Amino acid sequence: MAYNNNGYNVEFLCDVDEKYRCIVCGNVLCYPLQFKTCGHRTCSGCLKEVLRSKSNPKCPIDGVNISIENVEEDEAIHQKILTFEVCCQRHLEGCNWTGLLNDLEKHLKKCQFEIIDCPKGCKEMIERQNIEKHISTNCSKREILCEFCKCSTHYDQLKSHWNACQMYLVSCPNSDECGKIARIDFDRHIRKDCKFKPIFCPFADEGCTYKGKVHDMEKHLEKDHLQHMIIFRDQIANQERIIQKQDEIIHQQENLLQDVLQRNEHSFTYYITEYSKQFNLARKCREHSVIYSDPFTVGKYGYKLSLVIFPNGNGIGKNKYLSVYLQLMRSEYDDILAWPFHCKVTIELIDQNINFDDRKNITFSLIPDKKRKQAAFMKPKNDTFTYFGSSMLASHKQLKARHYILNDTIYLKVVVKPTGDIGV
Ligand SMILES: [Zn+2]
Ligand SMILES: [Zn+2]
Ligand SMILES: [Zn+2]
Ligand SMILES: [Zn+2]
Ligand SMILES: [Zn+2]
Ligand SMILES: [Zn+2]
Ligand SMILES: [Zn+2]
Repeated sequence: MAYNNNGYNVEFLCDVDEKYRCIVCGNVLCYPLQFKTCGHRTCSGCLKEVLRSKSNPKCPIDGVNISIENVEEDEAIHQKILTFEVCCQRHLEGCNWTGLLNDLEKHLKKCQFEIIDCPKGCKEMIERQNIEKHISTNCSKREILCEFCKCSTHYDQLKSHWNACQMYLVSCPNSDECGKIARIDFDRHIRKDCKFKPIFCPFADEGCTYKGKVHDMEKHLEKDHLQHMIIFRDQIANQERIIQKQDEIIHQQENLLQDVLQRNEHSFTYYITEYSKQFNLARKCREHSVIYSDPFTVGKYGYKLSLVIFPNGNGIGKNKYLSVYLQLMRSEYDDILAWPFHCKVTIELIDQNINFDDRKNITFSLIPDKKRKQAAFMKPKNDTFTYFGSSMLASHKQLKARHYILNDTIYLKVVVKPTGDIGV
């Protein structure tokens, strides 16, 4: 609006008589009101100044009492004022328009010197006459075509559009000689088409981190020969460390296995059938005085032993006792076993009573003394024939009691239990 209801703030081209001016604001009356009591006039917007001034409002010119009932619109004066000639409010900016006050508002709606908001919403205030130029050249909200994809966008969004535009031209990181590449083709270029794609050193798997163009790679291979040797050396050292570590683990596991084996005792049972016949033979004939069992081993890789049985006794047991001994035999594992042999050994003559609870086995136990180095416990040699055990395991009289002989058969059980640090 060129004016509000507090007088016309415009330049009149004619002299304006005082009666057309508001007694409050002094401007040419705008929608005039007249006090019926004294005839003075105010703008419709200025009346409130008069009414508000005192509890008992008076005309500011002559002091006559004013009340809202004796104020009336002065339509005749209003129409008269509208015929006064004025110039455009923006004549100082260059507008040459003059005309009736009545037409001013219409003129201002298209006055080329009026400052208006940019209709594109860029928040700039522009003279109407410059708006087209602004929109086509300066406005940040002007429409613009992306030069790459030809899509329309706002000028102030062009940069962010380019960040995503698939047709935007980008450079190849490998070489300027590749020229500019549309973003949509970039991946394929890097993957397939680029002639300047760096290649990895053929010793990359061995740890060389060099990568370069084909030509540079040739130079690298010539020049960095020593570096490659160092890489190889380090890698070998590394693998040796790994092997060493694995050896340690295997060793630990072997120890663990031995530990388990050592905790286990091993038993072997041997029987002699037709015992009375064997006994008589032993008694009568020197060559038949001794019976050897089949050899047996203590554990899978342990000592090899065999029972040596004298049915008619041996040494101090001769003619009175059953003598039973053990003999260490040569085995292929002797070299890894601990010597002298010092497992706890038990020889047991089994009572074959059907009722298990009533059995009374005759047992003989022995733990070899490591320090004494008796021949019988040493690593066996070809010519040795020494044994250890009991010359008096059971007397002939004892044998007849209980059920040591049943169906003319005796059973002998050997239990070998490793003690301490024995490698069995
Ligand atoms: Zn006024
Ligand atoms: Zn008055
Ligand atoms: Zn104008
Ligand atoms: Zn604009
Ligand atoms: Zn684009
Ligand atoms: Zn390239
Ligand atoms: Zn290399």
